[in-house]
Amino acid sequence: MKTTSHSDKAFPWDTPIQYLKKVGPQRTFLFRALNVETLEDLLYFLPFRYEDRSALKKIANLTITDTIETVVGEIQNVTLAQTARRGMKIVEVALADETGVLHAKWFNQPYLATSFKKGDHLMVSGKVRIGLFNRNQFEIESPQYEIIDQNEPQIHLGRIVPIYHETKGLTSRQIRLIVWLLLEEYKTMIPDRLPSTLIEKYKLIPLSSAISECHFPSKETSRSLLHSGQTLAHQRLAFDEIFLLEMGLAIRRKKVTVKEKGISFQTDSALVRKMKTLLPFQLTSAQESVCIEIEKDMTLAHPMYRLLQGDVGSGKTVVALMAILIAIENGYQAALMAPTEILAQQHFLSLLPYFQTLGCRLLLLTAGLKKKEKEEAIQKIESGNADLVIGTHALIQDEIGFANLGLAVIDEQHKFGVLQRAKIIQKGCHPDILMMTATPIPRTLALTLYGDLHFSTIREMPKGRTPVVTRVFSAKHRDQVYGLMEKAFLAGRQAYLVCPLVEASEKMDLKAATQLAQQLQETIFQNYRVGLLHGRMKQSEKEQIMEAFKNGDIHLLVATTVIEVGIDVPNATVMVVEHAERFGLSQLHQIRGRVGRGGKQSYCFLIGEYPQSNEAKARLAVIESTHDGFKIAEEDLALRGPGEFFGTKQAGLPELKIANLLRDSEILEVARKEAFLWIENDHDLHLPESSLIRAAFERKWKGKLEWLTY
Ligand code: ADP
Ligand code: MG
Repeated sequence: MKTTSHSDKAFPWDTPIQYLKKVGPQRTFLFRALNVETLEDLLYFLPFRYEDRSALKKIANLTITDTIETVVGEIQNVTLAQTARRGMKIVEVALADETGVLHAKWFNQPYLATSFKKGDHLMVSGKVRIGLFNRNQFEIESPQYEIIDQNEPQIHLGRIVPIYHETKGLTSRQIRLIVWLLLEEYKTMIPDRLPSTLIEKYKLIPLSSAISECHFPSKETSRSLLHSGQTLAHQRLAFDEIFLLEMGLAIRRKKVTVKEKGISFQTDSALVRKMKTLLPFQLTSAQESVCIEIEKDMTLAHPMYRLLQGDVGSGKTVVALMAILIAIENGYQAALMAPTEILAQQHFLSLLPYFQTLGCRLLLLTAGLKKKEKEEAIQKIESGNADLVIGTHALIQDEIGFANLGLAVIDEQHKFGVLQRAKIIQKGCHPDILMMTATPIPRTLALTLYGDLHFSTIREMPKGRTPVVTRVFSAKHRDQVYGLMEKAFLAGRQAYLVCPLVEASEKMDLKAATQLAQQLQETIFQNYRVGLLHGRMKQSEKEQIMEAFKNGDIHLLVATTVIEVGIDVPNATVMVVEHAERFGLSQLHQIRGRVGRGGKQSYCFLIGEYPQSNEAKARLAVIESTHDGFKIAEEDLALRGPGEFFGTKQAGLPELKIANLLRDSEILEVARKEAFLWIENDHDLHLPESSLIRAAFERKWKGKLEWLTY
C-alpha cells in the first residue's frame, strides 16, 4: 500500500487559531462564535456561497443590460448632496479607470461619504444605466462595494470570491484573507488521510486541493456545481465526512452483533389469538403481513431491531400489541415508550380493558405520578408484577429496573434521541426492539441515522376511512372556518384547534392558546364548551381535559402541538390549524391524522398567514392536495433538508458540515459500503493502514464515543 508523504498526526490540526496570521486574541474570541477554534475548524469553515467577480470590466466596455457588472476604479471625487424636494441624502462617487469614468450613487447612507477617500481603489458591482440627468455618463445605483487594500493579496476581485458567514466584528472579507494566508502557509502540508486504495478507486482529488478549491475555486470551476456544493472538491470533502461518520456506525454494529445474544421467543401465542377475537375489527392484510415479519424476527436468537413505518392512522399500535402479547406469553415483560404523557395515557386507557380481559397486568409510569405511586410502580416493575409498562421518558430513569424486559416498543421514535433509545435497550438483557414511526425516510438515510435496522411498512389503511377534506384559508377568512366548525358541533361532532405557541413571545405575536380559548368561549362559541390543553399544564389537568374531550363534554379542544402525535378520538372530525405556515409538512400531516379516524367525513382547515412568502403557500398546497404520508415526507425532506427534518443533533451523530445526506445520497451509498468493509478488516483501527484515518476519526467522534458503546 502506498503511503502519503505526511502523516495526519504530524499536521497541526488541533492548533488553536490564535497564532495564525491576522488572527490574535480578539479575533480568536470572535471566531468562537462561529464555532471555529482550531486550524482544522478553520480549514473546514467553508464559504456558504460564492460571488463571481471574475468578469471584471473596463468602464468603457460597460453595457446597459440587466446583468450585474463589476468594475474597479480609483476614487476621483466624493460628494454628499441633498435633494431639494424630499431632502434625500445622496453620496456620489466618481470612479475612474484608464478607459473612463463611472458614477456610483447611494441614497440615504450619508456615512459612506466619509468611508470613501479620494485615491482609494474601489470595487463596485451592480446594474449600469445611462445618467438620469446627464445622458453622457454611466451610472450605477446602490452597488455592492468593497474598498481595495493595495497592500493585501488581490483575492477579493477578478476571481470567484468566497463569501463566509460573518459575526459582529468579523467580516467575510477579513475571514477570506485569514483563510487565504492560512492556506498559503499550510496548503502543501495537508495530509491525505483517506486510504489511498479508496482515493484511487473513486478518483478522489487530494484533500489539500479539495480544501483549497472549496475556499478559492479556480477560474474554470462550474458555477452551478459550485453553488449546489457539488464540485469535485466538495464531493471529496463530503466523502471524507460521510466515511468517518459511517466508520463510527460500523464500529458500533460490530460491537452489537459480536456481543449480543438475544431472546428466542416462541411465537405461537394463545394471548394473540384471544386478542384477535376481542378486537372490534379485523387486521388488514398489511397489518397481518407485518405481524408475520415481526414474529419471524422474534423467534431468532439475536435481538430484533426493527422499524415499523406506517402512515398516521394505519394502525401500528395494534401490531405492536401482538408483539407485546407474545413477549408476555413467553414470560417476559414488555415496555411501550411514548414521547408525551398524553399519548402514554391514551395507550394505557385504550389497552386497559383488553388487558383486564386477557388477565395481563398493565402499568402506567409517567413523570406526573406522586411519590408514593411512583415507588409502588417501581416496585411492581422490579418484582415482575407488571407485564406491560407504558410510559414516557420516565421509563428510562436510572431508578427503574425491570425484572426481565424482553421487548421494548418505542412509539413515534423520531421524537427520541439516540441515547434515549439506547437507554431503554439497556433496561433489559438484549431485548427485542420495535420502533414505530409515521415519518418514513429513504432507506440509506435511515440506516445512517438509526443504525442497523430492519424495516416493516404498513402500506394500506384500515377500510372505511374517508380521506380528510383539507382546505387552506387565509387569516382574513377565519370566520368561514368558525362557521364550518359550528356546523360540525351542531351535528354532534367535535373539533381541535392547534396553535403553535403557549405564550406570545415578544417578537412573534402568535395568538396565545390561552387567550384564544378564552376569547372563543366568550364570543363565537358561547353555546359550546371550549377546553384548553398545553404542554405546561399539570399532568392531572391534562388528564381531566383529555377525558372530558373523549367523553364528548368538550366540543372544541384548543391545543398547542402536544396533540401532534398519536391521540385518538374518533368523534372529532374537524382539525383547525392556526399559523399553519409555521409547521413542517410532516408535522401538519401528523396533526391532520388526528381526525378522519371514525369513518365519518372529516375536515382539516389550515389557516395561513403569509404576507409575502410564496414558498409557504406552496407548502400548504402540498398538504391540501395529497394524503400520502410518504410523498409528504419526501417533499418535506427536499424542502428542509435532513438536518432540520430529523435534527442530526437529536440523532446523536457528529455534525455534518459539508455533506448533505439527501443531496449526497450516492456518496452516502459508497462511503457507507467502504467504511463497513474497512471496519470488517480492522475493527478497532489498529492496522498500519488505518493510522492516518484513525486520528481524524477520533477528532470527529470526540465526545460522542459514549454513543458507540451500547
Ligand atoms: P397509528 O398507526 O397512527 O399509530 P393507531 O394505531 O393509533 O394508528 O390506529 C388508528 C385507529 O385505527 C385506532 O382507532 C385503531 O383502533 C384503528 N384501527 C387499527 N387497525 C384497524 C383495522 N384493521 N381496522 C379498523 N380500524 C383499525
Ligand atoms: Mg400511533
